[in-house]
Amino acid sequence: MKRLPGKLLTTLSLSAIAIAALVLVAHVSLARQSSSQAAKLPAAMEPVPAVTSFVEEHAHFDEKDPAGAVRSAVAALGRENAAMIVFQISPDTFEHPGRYDTEIILSEVKKHPGKLAITGGGGSLNAMIMKSVATGDAGPEVRKEFKARAEELLREGVIGFGEMTAEHFDGFTPYQAAPPDHPLFLLLADLAAEHNVPIDLHMEAVPQDMPLPADLKSPPNASRLHANIAAFERLLAHNPRAKVIWAHLGSDFTGFRTVELDRRLLLGHPNLYMEIKTDPDAHGKTYPLGFDGKIKSDWLKLFTDFPDRFVIGSDQHYPEPKDADKRWQETILLFNQLPADVRKKIGTENVAAIYGNSVASFLRAAKN
Ligand SMILES: [Zn+2]
Ligand SMILES: [Zn+2]
Repeated sequence: MKRLPGKLLTTLSLSAIAIAALVLVAHVSLARQSSSQAAKLPAAMEPVPAVTSFVEEHAHFDEKDPAGAVRSAVAALGRENAAMIVFQISPDTFEHPGRYDTEIILSEVKKHPGKLAITGGGGSLNAMIMKSVATGDAGPEVRKEFKARAEELLREGVIGFGEMTAEHFDGFTPYQAAPPDHPLFLLLADLAAEHNVPIDLHMEAVPQDMPLPADLKSPPNASRLHANIAAFERLLAHNPRAKVIWAHLGSDFTGFRTVELDRRLLLGHPNLYMEIKTDPDAHGKTYPLGFDGKIKSDWLKLFTDFPDRFVIGSDQHYPEPKDADKRWQETILLFNQLPADVRKKIGTENVAAIYGNSVASFLRAAKN
């Protein structure tokens, strides 16, 4: 059952990585054991921190207790060996009663410059897109309002637009879908380019129209999913200066976010970046880790072929849910297996390049 991928072992066996990886496997299996048997194991089974510093570029918070969430995230930095945590706002609709946006936690985040940062628009810009999809109105008034809200968020200090969505299954927030080349997404790309901030996009991969995967329920999800990859490419091509981070590599619930698709898109679109998320409680259908906790060889090759295009975005919630395995922990188990030069880029350098000085200046200061 716990088959070691022979090909991967052969590939790595003569390199220094192999030694590091084998040591890590021991940690991995212990930590995985601790995940599934947490209640029975002694407290000594502590989570394994990152072997080198990283930025957690995609996290969420308890909107009912912003101060507590911020305390918990700041306390987690040392435990995880994270240099910084970036909060994202869950993509939402105007109809959802729990909707909120950046303002709910902004003053608390601002108390920790260089340790915490935040994106914005998941609860407003994204809701405006969903409304526009429903009404069919993307006219001048709607666009004006959308632009004004985006600029307001930037004035308040968000470092990116997120979490936006183009295909999102029902979960913390409702089922949502929009064409990634919707006029408001194109406008957002222009605003992102103009202000040099990225867009963080949650989008299940749907290369062709398809029925909802059988393991998901409709309702609340749509019974049919509309093709979105060609439209996503139109968004990327619309303004090549707009950096788009495609969230949740490793958390693929259609089964179509393959190494091949990611590779083709990365090759074709230099403004595309990807966040790595591996959730021990909800493995995606194209999961980068094997049963033994080791990175699968084709995914490792993708990360090393495009070392400048990935960041760590585990989607961890703060405070960390007590009864759930930790997303950050599983994602860091993957991170710790990367070759050192690739790990350095994916850990901190890429985030600094994508976000510019709102992240880079703090990382530089932390080093000195
Ligand atoms: Zn998401
Ligand atoms: Zn998220």
